[in-house]
Amino acid sequence: MTAFDLVVIGAGPGGYVAASKAAQLGMKVACIDKSYLGGTCLNVGCIPSKALLESSELFYRAKKGLGHHGIGQGEVGLDLRAMMARKDKIVQTMTKGIAGLFKSRGIAHFVGKGQVRAPGSVSVGKHVLSAQHILLATGSAPAELPNLPFDGKHVISSTQALTLEKVPERLVVIGGGAIGLELGSVWSRLGAQVLIVEAMNQILPGTDREMAQQLMRLLKRQGLTFLLKSKAQAATIQEDQVTLTIATGEQEQVETCDRVLVAVGRKPCSAGLGLEDAGVAVNERGQVLVDAQGRTNVEGIWAIGDLVPGPMLAHKAEAEGVAVAERMAGRAGQVNYDAIPSVVYTHPELASVGASQEQADADGHEVAVGQYLFRGNARAHCMDDIDGLVKIVADAHTDQLLGMHILGPQASHLIAEGVLALEFGASAEDVGRTVHAHPALSEVVGEAARAVAP
Ligand code: FAD
Repeated sequence: MTAFDLVVIGAGPGGYVAASKAAQLGMKVACIDKSYLGGTCLNVGCIPSKALLESSELFYRAKKGLGHHGIGQGEVGLDLRAMMARKDKIVQTMTKGIAGLFKSRGIAHFVGKGQVRAPGSVSVGKHVLSAQHILLATGSAPAELPNLPFDGKHVISSTQALTLEKVPERLVVIGGGAIGLELGSVWSRLGAQVLIVEAMNQILPGTDREMAQQLMRLLKRQGLTFLLKSKAQAATIQEDQVTLTIATGEQEQVETCDRVLVAVGRKPCSAGLGLEDAGVAVNERGQVLVDAQGRTNVEGIWAIGDLVPGPMLAHKAEAEGVAVAERMAGRAGQVNYDAIPSVVYTHPELASVGASQEQADADGHEVAVGQYLFRGNARAHCMDDIDGLVKIVADAHTDQLLGMHILGPQASHLIAEGVLALEFGASAEDVGRTVHAHPALSEVVGEAARAVAP
């Protein structure tokens, strides 16, 4: 039996980051993964989707024409195979980077299915590893709809939607969350007719309502269509076509398409991990229950990332990975769950941190809001990217910043200012008095903050 200070099961952004941090802090670490380094995020999630979003946006812009920039061009063509190859190359480069990191930090990498045999003991293939600490970081997998099971060809998950060999003529996306909107955007830009079906009364449920509505308006302008308060009922597949019945209240309509992407959420990968035998508590959704420190109910077993309750986001998993490694090493680890940004990488991007206006109201604040449009910003005009706005939500009495919502170009980068402001307990005035470079998109953040209490 090989002995380690820490055995991590799962090499996604949670697991590999925890392994790396623990090794940096002097622990002897092993990391087990049954498939690939980098997990969902790097292989079938964040990174391949962003690679396709970049390429498809360039295609869309070039196709629409750059004549107003004074750039003449001929016929714009699509080489989907080359676009996919570029995406795969990025994934390979980043995966190799993790392998290199493991090597340089002396982390033992085991390929296979990890299983907890007992507290302090993990098996992988024929190996049994003993460990002072076990970290469960097995992530999540696409959730299926019982009436619309994946067949991998016609009814597909996000994983297959990242590798289609041809642009579907008509794609129905079930689920108006981040994954559905991003992948719907990719295939819409490449020429598919895309219908997004969402069960709730807004896309991106839980997001600031006004911002979600604005994004939907802009996506409609790009050609995507939407059915809200609607549910896919049943599907039949014939001659490479899917016939889908969709119910909106009492009304039913039939849609025919060549692919259905089911993007209704993800389920934790806790089955087959040996948790029951080890006595690790899970909830009814199969999520591993942890305390505020990431500890399960069993001494020496920890869990992080998509496997535990909370937002299913790579940076949340990473932050938890760092914090638990620090705690295992006897240091103080900390994750501020009130300041975790979330981003939808459509065009324009929608990035948020903190409370929506509705949430701030529900929390009992008298809310003050400041807004500023990107069309008032010179740099946005230079970039040909003037759609969207920044919305700041603050407490009307104390001016404390409660939330920042950015719909606009490069919102994923701009939101960092809001995250830092929340982290430091800033007021809207603090953000408004912060000097922003000119000409820059970030000026819109400053203007919105100054609009809270003009
Ligand atoms: P995972 O990344 O799921 O990794 C878990 C790993 O554990 C996997 O490699 C798996 O093979 C392994 N594993 C599972 N069971 C076992 C076992 N028994 N033994 C050994 N290994 C096992 N998040 C963002 O923050 N930003 C984005 O832009 C974003 N885009 C996304 C786009 C898509 C299409 C998808 C699907 C997801 C996206 N996400 C995004 C979510 C993000 O991918 C996840 O939140 C993140 O990967 C969770 O990290 P994790 O380490 O908890 O688990």
